[in-house]
Amino acid sequence: MSRESLLKSMQTLQELGLNRGTSGNASVRQDNGFIVTPSGLAIRDMTGTHMVEINMQGETTSAGKPSSEWRFHRDIYLARPEINAVVHTHSMFATTLACLQKEIPPFHYMIAIAGGSNVRCSEYKLFGTQALSNAAIMALRDRKACLLAKHGMIAIGSNLQQAMDIAIEVEGLCEQYWRALQISTPENLTSEEMDEVFEQFKDYGNWNK
Ligand code: 13P
Ligand code: ZN
Repeated sequence: MSRESLLKSMQTLQELGLNRGTSGNASVRQDNGFIVTPSGLAIRDMTGTHMVEINMQGETTSAGKPSSEWRFHRDIYLARPEINAVVHTHSMFATTLACLQKEIPPFHYMIAIAGGSNVRCSEYKLFGTQALSNAAIMALRDRKACLLAKHGMIAIGSNLQQAMDIAIEVEGLCEQYWRALQISTPENLTSEEMDEVFEQFKDYGNWNK
């Protein structure tokens, strides 16, 4: 079940242009650990059987090589008990802003879906390292998304659908912000205006579930 859902999510990310080739990965929490996409395998070649089960000690409990980013998947599940799915992309607009190490400010009210009034950008750290995981955990505090400097984006959710929805929405926000920046520098919503947005969101969609 989780294997097929993860495969479908990776295929959807590719169809939507958020990931391509071997870029990106995804995981879902399960008893005593999580199940994660394989390392270095192009999405077109992935099947459900390639997904790798791994425990919270980082030991694989099924065949295959887990994503090189298994550490940040594991550390997110350890740090955030309410989170049950993690999606990582190298999507074009999020990565463009991440290459400039720019956070996304509250230029649009939908920034609230990521849990606060900005989406932070982490420090740059080498892919596949504990240092990157530590930087990601910092950038994700009180948030459901962050940018990874000179790398990409992480979106997390209470389930895989929510993590996917947040990844897709954040990529859209990054494109809108990038487009706005071509013309001028957009003014941000004030903290009072964002407080009103957070209030409205208590009763809007499944973003808080
Ligand atoms: P994996 O194929 O090992 O998951 O690596 C892809 C990636 O995005 C690394 O950051
Ligand atoms: Zn990556």
